[in-house]
Amino acid sequence: MSKSSFQFEQIGVIHSCYRQKFGIPRQPGIVTAAESELELLPPYNQENLVRGLEGFSHLWVHFIFHKTMEEGWRPTIRPPRLGGKQRMGVFATRSTHRPNPIGLSVVKLKSIQSGNGKLILRLAEADLLDGTPVIDIKPYLPYADALPEAKGGFAPLPAIMAEVEFSEAAMLKCLAYERQTGRSLIELIRQVLGQDPRPAYLRETTERRHGSALWDVNVVWESRGDHFLVTDLEPYS
Ligand code: SAM
Repeated sequence: MSKSSFQFEQIGVIHSCYRQKFGIPRQPGIVTAAESELELLPPYNQENLVRGLEGFSHLWVHFIFHKTMEEGWRPTIRPPRLGGKQRMGVFATRSTHRPNPIGLSVVKLKSIQSGNGKLILRLAEADLLDGTPVIDIKPYLPYADALPEAKGGFAPLPAIMAEVEFSEAAMLKCLAYERQTGRSLIELIRQVLGQDPRPAYLRETTERRHGSALWDVNVVWESRGDHFLVTDLEPYS
């Protein structure tokens, strides 16, 4: 049987608090403090294309794993959820290294803004890197898409969140940042680090310095046994 290939056009781009892959939650809905915007690009930046969308609280966003697509795909993956020790088939995982590098996330729609030739969907709870190309948007339909009886395979429940503490100096910088920007940086850091963004092979090591880029700051942190400590904030550009 002959196979087809398809070409899709980018319809939008994500502007997100996640400036690097490291630290992005592995699924949407986990970091509720994450904010992003989906900017629709011409010719899709017309209000009539989103007419009726304002009545939906959540959207399916179809996007391209643009940052990893050049690395190609892998037939089996070691899911972080299994401690990186067991391999599962790529189609049993949400890995970014897929034959077609297409991602799918349910995100919260906060509002729709238009003006000056721009059409922007303000989102929350997404797991998307800044600059992610979007190829489609569909409304989330609770009656069809929410399936409480569904089985979750090897990932039946969300991971347990760890405690996150701040050094005094880091907390003072966070508070100053929140005052200046109006962004909920402290809650964002708590949720991002709480889900332990480290790959499995780094989880054994402690007292290693890590950095996670959120908005325009590099959050410096380290593991302290059962919790994480934020030690500093540095500018990130
Ligand atoms: N919810 C989506 C899905 O199921 O298709 C994505 C799941 S994937 C496991 C989530 C991870 O994708 C994030 O932790 C982040 O590291 C990565 N990611 C997000 N945006 C990306 C992009 N534009 N390119 C490559 N990787 C990306």
